[in-house]
Amino acid sequence: MAAPAETIRPEAQRKVKILLVDDSPENLVSLEAALYTLGEELVLANSGTEALRHLLEDDFAAILLDVKMPDMDGFETAELIRSRPRSRHTPILFLTGYKSDEHLFRGYDLGAVDFLFKPIVSEVLRSKVAVFVQLSRNAGLLREQAQTLSEQAMVLQKAEQKFRSLLEAAPDAMVMCRQSGEVVLVNSRTESLFGYSRSDLLGNDIHLLVPDWEYQIRLVPDEDISKARSSGERELHAVRSDGTGFPVEISFSPLQTEEGILITSAIRDITDRRRAEEQIRELNTYLENRVLERTEELLRSNDELAQFAYAASHDLQEPLRTISIYTELLVKRYRGRFEGDADLFIEHITTNARRMGLLIRDLLDFSRVDSRGSDHFTLTSCDAALDEALANLRIPIQESNAVISRDPLPAISGDPVQLIRVFQNLISNAIKYRGRELPRIELRAEPRDHEWLFAVQDNGIGIEPDYTEKIFGIFKRLHAQGEHPGNGMGLAICRKIINRHGGRIWVESEPGRGSKFCFTLPKNN
Ligand code: ADP
Repeated sequence: MAAPAETIRPEAQRKVKILLVDDSPENLVSLEAALYTLGEELVLANSGTEALRHLLEDDFAAILLDVKMPDMDGFETAELIRSRPRSRHTPILFLTGYKSDEHLFRGYDLGAVDFLFKPIVSEVLRSKVAVFVQLSRNAGLLREQAQTLSEQAMVLQKAEQKFRSLLEAAPDAMVMCRQSGEVVLVNSRTESLFGYSRSDLLGNDIHLLVPDWEYQIRLVPDEDISKARSSGERELHAVRSDGTGFPVEISFSPLQTEEGILITSAIRDITDRRRAEEQIRELNTYLENRVLERTEELLRSNDELAQFAYAASHDLQEPLRTISIYTELLVKRYRGRFEGDADLFIEHITTNARRMGLLIRDLLDFSRVDSRGSDHFTLTSCDAALDEALANLRIPIQESNAVISRDPLPAISGDPVQLIRVFQNLISNAIKYRGRELPRIELRAEPRDHEWLFAVQDNGIGIEPDYTEKIFGIFKRLHAQGEHPGNGMGLAICRKIINRHGGRIWVESEPGRGSKFCFTLPKNN
C-alpha cells in the first residue's frame, strides 16, 4: 500500500536566515562555527552599514550585533534597524564585552531581546539563537495560516454574495428559518409579497406570514441531511401585513448548518393559478351541462324525427297503394283509348308510384333499425350471414359474372337479420357500381384489440374523396336514376345498423380504382 502523501508545509521546511554582525573577521568565524550546527543560513556582515544593506533585501530570524564597532556602533545600527518597518520586530541579540547597566538599558531601550557577553559560550549562543529560529519559524507558520484563513474567508464571502444575489433574483419569496419558525433570512420578493420590511421579519416567526407553516425534519443520529427528503410542495394560506389572505405554494428544503437545521421555503403566490383553475372548472361544468342539454335535445328531436319518419312512411303506404291499384286499373281498362300522351302519362305515374313505394319501404326499414329490440342480439356467425346475403343476391351475381372471394369470418354478438342486410347492401353496391372489368369482390375480417375489422373490397368505379362521407347520409347518391337505379338509402341503413352494434363504418376509395368499405364490430366476449 502506498504511503499517504505528507502535507508539505513550506514554512516549516525553509531555512531561516541569521545575520551575524561583527567588525572582527575572527569573531565572525567563531560565531559562524558556533551556529553552523543549527543548519540555518548564516549571513555575515562586518559593519553596521553592511548589515543594514542585507536588511534591505532580506528578512532575518535574528540579528547578532556586536556593540563595539568603528564608524557605526551596535546601538546606532540597532536604532536604524528599528526605524525601518521591515526589520522593526526582528529580534536583536547584542554581543558585548562590558556588562554595564548603561549598556543594558540602552540596548533594551533599542529593543534588544538579549545580551551575550564575551567571551561567548558556544552552547549558550546556540541555544539562545535556536529559540529565535523556532520563534521565527512559528511566526512564519502563523503568517501562512493567516493567509490561508483570509483566502478561505474570501471564498466564503464570495459564495455568500452569490447565494444572496441568487436569493434576491428568485421570482418567489424565499424565507430561511429555523425549525422553530424563527426567520433568519428573507429576500426582497418576500418584502413586496407580504408588505413587511426585512427588519420586521428577521427574528420574527414565519407563522406571521403562513399561519399553518409546519416543517419537521427528524434525522436519525448521524444521518446526512441530504438524505432527509424535503416534504415536496404544499399549498397553504398566507397573510399579508394588512391582514388580507392569499393562497401560496411552498416548497421546503432543509440545510444542515453549524447553527443547526435551517429550512429554506420558496413561497409562490398562486392566486392567479387558482383563479384560472376555478374558471376552467366553472367552464367545464358549464360545457358539460350544455353538452348534456344538447344531447337530451338531440335525442328528443331524433326520437321525434324517427317517430315522424316511421308514421309518415307507414301512413303514406296506404294512399300510395290505392294510387297504384287505380293506375293499374286505368292501364288495364283504358290503355290505347285515350288521345295524345295520356298513355305515356299513365306510365310515368305507374313508374313513380313504384319508386315511391320503394322509397317508403327503405325509409321504413331505416326507421325500424333502432326499434328492433335487443332480444334480437344473439351469437351470430358472420359466415352464415354472408351466405344468406349471397343467396339473396344470386341473380345479380350470376348476371354480372361477379367473382366473390372470402376469408372465414368470425362469430359476433349481433342481430343476424341486420347483419345479412349490411353484407347484402355492400355486395349489391359493389356489383351495381362496377367498372368495365368483371366485378371482383373480396371479403375478409381481421382481429384488432377489442374488435373485428371487416372489409368488402371491389374493383368498381370508385368514389371521389369529397363524397366518401356524404354517401352514408339519407337519400345521398352520386348518380342519376337512369345511370344506376337506387334511392340512396342502402349505406345510411348500413351505418345505422353498424352503429347500433357498437361499430364504425367508412370507405377508402379512389375514382377508377375500386372501393374498400370497412366496418368494425366488437368482439364477442
Ligand atoms: P344507392 O346505391 O341506392 O344509390 P347507397 O346508399 O347504397 O344508395 O349508396 C350511396 C351512393 O354511394 C351511391 O349512389 C353511389 O354513388 C355510391 N356508392 C355506394 N357503393 C359504391 C361502390 N361500391 N362503388 C362506388 N360507389 C358506391
